[in-house]
Amino acid sequence: MDRLETTAGLRSKGYRVTPQRERILEVFHDLAPGTHLSAEELHQRLRNAQPPISLATTYRTLHLLATLGLLRELDFAEGHKHYELHRGATDHQHLVCVACYTPIEFTGADVEDAARAVAERYGFKVLDIQLKIHGICAACQRRAAQDAEE
Ligand SMILES: [Zn+2]
Ligand SMILES: [Zn+2]
Repeated sequence: MDRLETTAGLRSKGYRVTPQRERILEVFHDLAPGTHLSAEELHQRLRNAQPPISLATTYRTLHLLATLGLLRELDFAEGHKHYELHRGATDHQHLVCVACYTPIEFTGADVEDAARAVAERYGFKVLDIQLKIHGICAACQRRAAQDAEE
C-alpha cells in the first residue's frame, strides 16, 4: 500500500485524515523494510511531531489503523504488539527467535495458498494471513554452542 492508498483507506471507511493519523502512517511508510515498531518505539519517533502526539493517541491510532487493515498487528511474544504497514494480499510471514526476539521475514506463497484453501472451505473472507514460526535463530544457536564450549 502506498501513501495515497493508506490515506484513501481511512477516508473510504469514514475516518478523517487528522495530522496525527497522517504523521503516524508516514512513519510506517518511511520505515526500512523488515522494521516493526511497538507503540512505545513509534511514540519515540514522534517526539518532535507538530502538533504533539501523546502516547494514548499513539495507542488509539495504532489500534484504529490495525482494525481498518491499514497496519498489521503482530504479536512476537514479547508481551506487547508490533506494527507494520499492511502491504496487501501477498504479504510476508515471520520467523521469530524466542531468544533474541528478532523477527525474520519471509514470503510464504505456499503457506498462503494453503491458508486460503482452508478459508475457502469455511466460507471465510480472508483479510490477512499471519503465520509465525517460533524457534531459535542461527545466530543464537551459534552463541549457545560457543557458550557451551567455554
Ligand atoms: Zn514483517
Ligand atoms: Zn535469536
